[in-house]
Amino acid sequence: MKHDSQNIMVVLSSPSGVGKTTITKKLQQKHSSFKLSVSHTTRLPRSNEVNGVDYHFVSENEFKDLIKQDAFYEYAKIFGNFYGTHKKKINESIQKNDIIFDIDWQGTKQLSKFKNLSLLKIYLVPSSKKDLKKRLVDRNQNSHKEIEMRFNSFDEDIQHWNDYDFILINKNLEYCFSQIEKIILNHKDNITIASRIFQ
Ligand code: 5GP
Repeated sequence: MKHDSQNIMVVLSSPSGVGKTTITKKLQQKHSSFKLSVSHTTRLPRSNEVNGVDYHFVSENEFKDLIKQDAFYEYAKIFGNFYGTHKKKINESIQKNDIIFDIDWQGTKQLSKFKNLSLLKIYLVPSSKKDLKKRLVDRNQNSHKEIEMRFNSFDEDIQHWNDYDFILINKNLEYCFSQIEKIILNHKDNITIASRIFQ
C-alpha cells in the first residue's frame, strides 16, 4: 500500500453495538480532513443506509470476484456476511485525507501486516454486557436473532483488545468522543500519550 503522505489512518473497532459508527461519523463531520473508509459488504442495506455512503452494497458473487482479483486489503465474514476494504479507494483517499476505518478485529489484524502503514488502532468497549444488550435492542436495527448473534460474539471479540494501541470504555458518548478526538489529534501532531486505557 502506498502511504507516502503525512495523512494518518485510524482504525476503530469494537464489539457490535458499542457506538463506533456514531463516533466515526461524528469525527468525520467535525474534522473535514477525516474521511471514512466506505467498505464493500454483502449485507443488505438498512432502511437509513445509502449505497456508496454507508457501504458499497454488492452481491456475494461480486464480492467473491473482488477477492479473486485481490482487490481488498482485508476482508472478513462477520455475522454471515462479507465485509472488505477496497485497495484502490484507500490508495486514492490517503493522498488527500486522513482515513478512519470502522472494521472488526479480523480486518485490523490483516491491515496490521502492511508494515509500511502507520495505523492508529483504537478499541472501544461497553461499560458492561448489560449495557451492550440494551444498546443493541434500543438502536432497533436488527432482528431478535441478529441481536442474539451480535451479543454472543462479544466474548470472542473482546479477546482481541490487546491488538490495539488504545482501549476506551464508552460509558458516555460525548466524553468517549472527546477522548478519541484527543488521541487522534495528538497522534497527528506526533505527540505521545502515556496512558493506553481510558475510562
Ligand atoms: P454492521 O453490519 O453493523 O454495519 O457491521 C458489522 C461489523 O462489520 C462491524 O464490527 C464493523 O466494524 C465491521 N466492518 C464493517 N466494514 C468492514 C470491513 O471492511 N472489514 C472488516 N473486517 N470489518 C468491517
